[in-house]
Amino acid sequence: MTTTEETGSLPARRETDGPWSEGAAALRGPGDGLNIAWVALDRHVADGHGEDIAIRWRAKDAPGRDLSYADLAGMAGRFADVLTQAGIGRGDSVFSLLGRVPELYAVALGTLKAGMVYTPLFAAFGPDPIRTRMEIAGARVLVTTGAIYRRKIAPWRRDLASLEHVFVTGEDVPDGCIALGPALAAADPGFRAVPCTADDPALIHFTSGTTGRPKGAVHVHGAVAYHAYSGRVALGLAPGAVYWCTADPGWVTGTSYGIIAPLVHRVTMIVDEAEFDLDRWYGMIGRERVAIWYSAPTAIRMMMRAGDAAAEPYDFSSLRFLASVGEPLNPEAVTWSARVFGRPFHDNWWQTETGGIMIANLPGDEVRPGSMGKPLPGITAAILDTTGPAVAELGAGEVGELALRPGWPSLMRAYLDEPARYAKCFRDGWYLSGDLARRDTEGFYWFIGRADDLIKTSGHLVGPFEVESALVAHPAVAEAAVIGLPDPTAGEIVRGYVTLNPGFQVSDDLERDIRGHARRLLGPAVAPREIVFRKTLPRTRSGKIMRRLLRARELGLPEGDISTLETDET
Ligand code: ATP
Ligand code: MG
Repeated sequence: MTTTEETGSLPARRETDGPWSEGAAALRGPGDGLNIAWVALDRHVADGHGEDIAIRWRAKDAPGRDLSYADLAGMAGRFADVLTQAGIGRGDSVFSLLGRVPELYAVALGTLKAGMVYTPLFAAFGPDPIRTRMEIAGARVLVTTGAIYRRKIAPWRRDLASLEHVFVTGEDVPDGCIALGPALAAADPGFRAVPCTADDPALIHFTSGTTGRPKGAVHVHGAVAYHAYSGRVALGLAPGAVYWCTADPGWVTGTSYGIIAPLVHRVTMIVDEAEFDLDRWYGMIGRERVAIWYSAPTAIRMMMRAGDAAAEPYDFSSLRFLASVGEPLNPEAVTWSARVFGRPFHDNWWQTETGGIMIANLPGDEVRPGSMGKPLPGITAAILDTTGPAVAELGAGEVGELALRPGWPSLMRAYLDEPARYAKCFRDGWYLSGDLARRDTEGFYWFIGRADDLIKTSGHLVGPFEVESALVAHPAVAEAAVIGLPDPTAGEIVRGYVTLNPGFQVSDDLERDIRGHARRLLGPAVAPREIVFRKTLPRTRSGKIMRRLLRARELGLPEGDISTLETDET
């Protein structure tokens, strides 16, 4: 990866002061340096809060255990010591391939503490996506389980010369691996966090691969100021709050708001090892008295699909704030959640590249169902026409590319090994998101779709989200994905793919009924010409519908990079 020679840090993008700079002095250390792990853990221990509970870990099949801030600081210190003793150096790459287990947090924060660069991957990835990403980053260390190692790493390990150490959790320790538990037990919990600079690389997160080959976005230690700021302003994180982030550890949300922001704010995090299970989730909220809940549209749609009655036996009285990210949140889901939980989900928008929440329905503000909300104070957003030689700002109501003015500290500093792709994200002083949106006269932003997903039909520009929301509003429809297919007269025609709620059967009548419903809501020009029933829709492991794959399959085109594909049943 490209680094400046003397410091090992990335060339700085110019940062500007903003509301994230207020109180940033408290978020420095150790000493005059900066280290995310110190800010998230050691600082609290030094301030006398070591006994506060950082994590209530709920194991898949057992009660689990609680970890205090002091426990976690010690575990992270031990892992930092293990890495350093193993000869791993500052700026070196450490990967994790783990579920939501206590070791994950020790590895993430221990790597940061040692001044090394942390990358989490989805534990469910197959061997190829793991290998490609570790090759790109020149991984020196991997932490995983014995079972994952045997199936997914061992077959190619010898080919990745950079990979020196593989640590495994648990009792099953394959040949060539080191048992993590005993290594931690023998290490020094008091390892001092390495003082880094704000521009030192800390994290590499791979994008979800929804639109193409995933990119490795590089983030720096200075990003912590924005994690802290956005966690407070957009999620309402505060000391002692019980907070549950359901994101997978392999996705950027799992680190920015599943580790860093909550710990910096000294909250108590609920960490559930298990995957989504309706009764388990509903029960968790009441049992753990969850106050702040950060989840994603896929999960919300699964809950909706189960119906209101499934939620009735549960106690949601502890909930104070609900937020959602990752995909457009259909207005239907907002009103449903307000009815069932007594509070609406607040949509917010950001990307792997932005490192933190950019646009949000903030706590305390009116929620506009279907809108992503407004830019956080200090963030300058715009809707741009990026089709001409120079970018031009568009006015209220116009659809264009959503862009942000660089200057906040968690903006990526590079795409690993892809300087040209990185350079293309910046034009005329703007960071271009690749998403299309519009802003209304009151400043709310509305998501239209990925620039690549926009449909041009009979002279109209159609954003898939608007059509999908209309389809989901039909009682039979659980999920919808909308694409454009080439058509000699219309340019493109709109086709909708839907999955059905329980109790509904595929039939021609139902197809006609859904089409009629969409036509009534959207008008004939925009409504889908055809509805196709599917058992599932192709989605990434972070839960995003892969429209490009539906389109490629329909047209018999190459499928492109499908390394992050999760569901694949037709
Ligand atoms: P890739 O860049 O590899 O195609 P990706 O963009 O899906 O993958 P992420 O960085 O995980 O990878 O996701 C960011 C994208 O997710 C945004 O650009 C946007 O398209 C979508 N997204 C995130 N939050 C929202 C939201 N609240 N509403 C609509 N879309 C959202
Ligand atoms: Mg993207």
